[in-house]
Parts: sequence; structure tokens; C-alpha cells
Amino acid sequence: MRITFLGTGTSTGVPEIGCKCEVCTSSDPRDSRLRTSALVEDGDTTLLIDCGPDFRVQMLRADVKKIDALLMTHKHYDHLVGIDDLRPYTRDKELPIYADRETEMQIRSFFPYCFGRVKYPGVANIRICPVDYKSSFRINETEITPLRVFHGMFPITAYRLGNLAYITDMSYIEPGELEKLKGVEVLVINALRFSKPHKTHQTVLEALPIIDYIKPKAAYITHMMHHIGLHAKIEKCLPSNVHLAYDGLVVEV
Ligand SMILES: [Zn+2]
Ligand SMILES: [Zn+2]
Ligand SMILES: [Zn+2]
Repeated sequence: MRITFLGTGTSTGVPEIGCKCEVCTSSDPRDSRLRTSALVEDGDTTLLIDCGPDFRVQMLRADVKKIDALLMTHKHYDHLVGIDDLRPYTRDKELPIYADRETEMQIRSFFPYCFGRVKYPGVANIRICPVDYKSSFRINETEITPLRVFHGMFPITAYRLGNLAYITDMSYIEPGELEKLKGVEVLVINALRFSKPHKTHQTVLEALPIIDYIKPKAAYITHMMHHIGLHAKIEKCLPSNVHLAYDGLVVEV
């Protein structure tokens, strides 16, 4: 199995429009971050996690030939607004989108024309598959366990795919759900910035104890804003098994 980080930036992306800070003006490509999304390839199966406003560019950059399913983490704009651009991947087949109830409602309200009985010609051919965080499911050979985590007050979905786990936009995880991460080799986990707390996203300092509890071989931080600091500088301050992810990074699991 391998994961490709398609985007590792928070909802505004990095650089942030109009900002002249050292991160937004950095010449290191690892400091440029499209909105958060990832591609997981397991044998012949290609799974997309989230589909935000940079989806089209991300697919062109990574040269993705097919997508077998989309796993949605939650309903926010920066994670779902690219769904209309799924069209090239749905010409020959219907694409299943795994989503919890809240996310399903948001997808239906953003893209009602994909769900009518009489569809406008050429719209994305998509189908919603409800996700219940209490039950695992399979896509081809890949075993997927959804986890319920909290994004501020509201519950969203994280996923464990075999020995890989993917968590974005989290501020809190209940102890029972944390146990589902035990044995994970590669843990992708979000942090908005290094230490200043935020209401709906955790920081690097809040992510580190979770990583330390799970003890993956490697952990990768995603969904970062420009206040995270320069990639090269922050990377040096982290434990040896913890890294900042960056756009285009590929990790074998
Ligand atoms: Zn987000
Ligand atoms: Zn900036
Ligand atoms: Zn969000």
C-alpha cells in the first residue's frame, strides 16, 4: 500500500493570498500546500481521501488514471467542493463516495444535479455509500475501519486502511476510538500550527502525545497553515519518527 499526499494545507492553502510572511514567500516547494487530500493505492485499488478545491490540479500533477472510490472525512468546503471535477473518472462507471450522514447531506445540497431522477447530461456519476463509524467495510481487498473524531464540537470521520490511518481536521479523539489506531505503521494526523491552540484543529504539540501513545513507525502531519513555520526548520524540532508531510510526498506502508 502507498499514500501520496496530494495536498497538505489548511482551508486557505499556503501561501495564503496576500501574505508576505517567510513561509508564504519561501522558495522551498515543501512550504507550498494545496488543500488537504490524499491518494491511497493498494494493489489495483485506488482510493481518494477528500476532494477539495484543488482536486483538478492535484489529479493532473499526480497523473491519476482512475479512482475506485472516494472516502470523505467531513462536509467542509475545502474537503468536498471538487466533486464536480470527478467527471473524467465517472464516464464509464459510477463512483462510490463513502460519507457520513452530515457529509452526504452537504454533498446533495452542493451538487443536487448529480442526484436527480433525470440527470443533466455529463454530470459526475456518483453514488453515496453511508459510513457508520461502528462498522468496518471493504473496498476490493482493502479493509477500512472508520473512526469518529471531533472537529471542534462536531463529529467527523477518520479512516484506518490496513496499517495506515488518516486523520484530518481533528481537535479531539475519544479514548475508545484511539484504540482503533493501535498497531498502525503509518499515522497521518493533522496539526494546524505548532503550539497556539485553536478551537477546531489540534496543534503539533497536541498531536505529539497521540503519536507517542500509538507509536507508529512513522507519523506525518497534514492540514497545516502558514503559521506552522518553515518546513525545513520545523522538521528538525520533531521526534525522529514524526515528519511534516508535503505536497507530492509518497510513503510506502
Ligand atoms: Zn479542512
Ligand atoms: Zn503567510
Ligand atoms: Zn474542516
